[in-house]
Amino acid sequence: MEPEVIRDKDSMRKWSRAMRSQGKTIGLVPTMGYLHEGHLSLVRQSLTLTDVTVVSIYVNPGQFSPTEDLSTYPSDFSGDLTKLAAISGGKVVVFNPKNLYDYGGETKKINDGGGRVVSCVEEGGLGHETWIRVERLEKGLCGKSRPVFFRGVATIVTKLFNIVEPDVALFGKKDYQQWRIIQRMVRDLDFGIEIVGSDIAREKDGLAMSSRNVRLSDEERQRALSISRSLAMARAFVAEGKTSCAELKDMIIKQLVGSAGRVDYVEIVDQETLEGVEEIKSGVVICVAAWFGTVRLIDNIEIDVSL
Ligand code: AMP
Repeated sequence: MEPEVIRDKDSMRKWSRAMRSQGKTIGLVPTMGYLHEGHLSLVRQSLTLTDVTVVSIYVNPGQFSPTEDLSTYPSDFSGDLTKLAAISGGKVVVFNPKNLYDYGGETKKINDGGGRVVSCVEEGGLGHETWIRVERLEKGLCGKSRPVFFRGVATIVTKLFNIVEPDVALFGKKDYQQWRIIQRMVRDLDFGIEIVGSDIAREKDGLAMSSRNVRLSDEERQRALSISRSLAMARAFVAEGKTSCAELKDMIIKQLVGSAGRVDYVEIVDQETLEGVEEIKSGVVICVAAWFGTVRLIDNIEIDVSL
């Protein structure tokens, strides 16, 4: 049976509070839709942790800059419902709001950008002006080339937390920096919500699942396999005792460039602080962002070592 769809925030909050009054615990899986096995694995995991699960499907304009792919972001709402209907093991509802930045006022820009980088929300003149920033963690990795991205993510997740009021919220480690930022935000702002990070779901050939993969041509998709392949090679190198990050990064960059990828970044960072390291001595994560054609892909691999 297809899940119930809740379209506005007041009904969503009412539903959650009704569940809570029945003693039920609530899981939240925030998504932007076009669901794949990575999203579905989060939903299944949520159902094992809580009594009911809310899957939000909302493409958040607050995390896209006007030059990014908001308007071409893939969507298939009825397909998403069919996929969720096939999940057994507990109750799932879908929260699919139309616009979480529309407060019913006049549409007018509250500033002209003034040379600042703005999101699609400000560009659209919706009047929203409150943002959450996780100041240090948001700066590196994806934050360098996407300056409004994590501000938008932290803000929409806060809004979803306030609307859905979940006990547990699940995030994929595919978006490693995002997961760490949300964890930090929840700690720093005393949200009473448990944050769970879930392993990356991959296609059989190793490509990390992503809604954006559909925009790769067959040939680009083949070339994009260099991402997961080079990350796996790096892990094997570390197991053999090669711990120089400069050498590991060099190897990965060569593989990506050799497959005609345009590298945004290759970084080896501490798992908690996301600060770059030179020599692998403790747990790190190797993070990659690269363009294949017009599609920017990210992936990473955690390396736990006790050398
Ligand atoms: P998105 O719809 O891309 O915003 O993703 C929604 C949630 O699904 C985020 O927590 C992502 O990290 C997670 N997710 C996306 N792709 C994967 C994947 N391949 N494996 C695990 N989680 C994922």
